[in-house]
Amino acid sequence: MKAVVKEKKGYDNINYKEVPDPAINDDEVLIKVMAAGICGSDLHIFHDVFPYWPPVILGHEFAGVIVEKGRNITRFEVGDRVTSEPQQKVCGVCRFCRAGKPHLCAFKRSPGWGIDGAMAEYIKISDCKLHKIPDNISFVEGAAIEPASTVTHAVIERGNIKVNDFVVVTGAGAIGLIAAQVARACGARKIAITGLDIDEEYRLKVARELKIDFVLNVQKEKLTDVVMNNTEGYGADFVAECSGSESAVNDAIEILAKSGKLVGLGLSGKETINIKWDKAVQKEIEIIPSMSSTFSSWEHTISLLSENKLDLGKVISDVMPLSEYRKAFEKVDKKQGLKIVLVPDKEYNK
Ligand SMILES: [Zn+2]
Ligand SMILES: [Zn+2]
Repeated sequence: MKAVVKEKKGYDNINYKEVPDPAINDDEVLIKVMAAGICGSDLHIFHDVFPYWPPVILGHEFAGVIVEKGRNITRFEVGDRVTSEPQQKVCGVCRFCRAGKPHLCAFKRSPGWGIDGAMAEYIKISDCKLHKIPDNISFVEGAAIEPASTVTHAVIERGNIKVNDFVVVTGAGAIGLIAAQVARACGARKIAITGLDIDEEYRLKVARELKIDFVLNVQKEKLTDVVMNNTEGYGADFVAECSGSESAVNDAIEILAKSGKLVGLGLSGKETINIKWDKAVQKEIEIIPSMSSTFSSWEHTISLLSENKLDLGKVISDVMPLSEYRKAFEKVDKKQGLKIVLVPDKEYNK
């Protein structure tokens, strides 16, 4: 089969090439990949700034159809439309695994960096982390269930968002646009989302199409004014920080109400950033970083999707053939568009 392979350590070293079809064992299923999303971490592997074990097929966000199953698989059938949580290999015995937090296991190996991933025609995977895709959701949208589940984990499980919260989402990328929709589904009173000049052309337009209450270009408008004018001067109850930028984190501390929550989903890509710590302390702001997803957050996402409370189609800007992964990676690197999904060429050309 054809696959996108990170061949060895170092910058780039990625090729689209012929590799052997995966062979399953009794506890695995073989999935024909119908769509594989490109994540920031795939780019980090390209740039050699993320852990990985080469040679390895990239891609952990995917959806497909089961075409073969091992003899011990009882909960899934050939023909099922599925996607999978990434934490495939974990130790199972550390305190995080035993406490139901396998995403924090130090021995975690996920598809796309630790084991072979989904930027290929087929992927083999154990059934323990599989989820069926709702009938109303396409494969392309299904490939975005993984990133959406990092959002439901952050906003619902870690952040414990409340009905009637005034919510600010900083960063209008795919994660931010999903966070705004999840906040709305959870009963947020009003939602503001922020972007920059470069986001005007596409991302902020999508935010307006999604009818987010306040869509702000913070290089042109003052976030503080919008928040204070709409909260009787108290400030926001909940910020979902999706940009990883130092200035956005500090804006969040400024515009949060006392006792507000700052949920961090964005990585800065730096060793340290400067934040207004004293102000956060004086305001008793709860700072809540969030990482990856959990089984229950996948259930939240899938239920929001089947109830049509979350539109993942809106955050997918491009669908491209797998062989054009380089062009797609370049677009992601330049922050053009939103989520880009790759489809194996044979399916793409159908
Ligand atoms: Zn991802
Ligand atoms: Zn473990």
